[in-house]
Amino acid sequence: MARDLGPKCRVCRREGIKLFLKGERCLTEKCAIERRSYPPGEHGRGRIKQSEYLLQLREKQKARRYYGLLEKQFRNTYEKATRGTGAPGENLLRMLEARLDNVVYRLGFAGSRAQARQLVRHGHFQVNGRRVNIPSFGVRPNDVITLKQGSAAAPLVRDATDLTASVSPWLQADHEGLTGKVLRWPERAEIDTPVQESLIVELYSK
Ligand code: SF4
Repeated sequence: MARDLGPKCRVCRREGIKLFLKGERCLTEKCAIERRSYPPGEHGRGRIKQSEYLLQLREKQKARRYYGLLEKQFRNTYEKATRGTGAPGENLLRMLEARLDNVVYRLGFAGSRAQARQLVRHGHFQVNGRRVNIPSFGVRPNDVITLKQGSAAAPLVRDATDLTASVSPWLQADHEGLTGKVLRWPERAEIDTPVQESLIVELYSK
């Protein structure tokens, strides 16, 4: 599966915020945003002419990179979001939140979404007792996510839970038993993704 393999900290610097792409390092003073909080490149510290399109584009890129999706995957998710009832922007965020890799990360079972994706890809997690190795798998309320019995990733997952300060309120995590449950769909206010989804909708509606 295709992935964005470019330098991660550069991505955060481009968007001007911490996207938490590197796990533990993001919580330390080594974080590039803490040290060089200006865009990368020769003209990083120069003035950038702002436009409506640029604002919309940056907001979309920020959301896409936050969840670690390529453009095509992100666009497809948006298309599905527009087919549901309710506001497309909120639907989009809800669908991105409900991805299995994101849920594993939000439950505290991985240090970053990239690590969560790899753990899922390698078949370390089960949903309702069945092995699921598709990172984009959409979880639903009452789904139970469990680390597979005897998984070699257990020490790594336990290390990640030690770093987890809190779990999203729409999820329930048991860090002893390494299981989690989806209590309900997240409300918009419970999604702390730092994006204005209306700008993404405006961009894709052109
Ligand atoms: Fe982003 Fe983490 Fe790198 Fe900081 S350390 S710039 S939050 S990826």
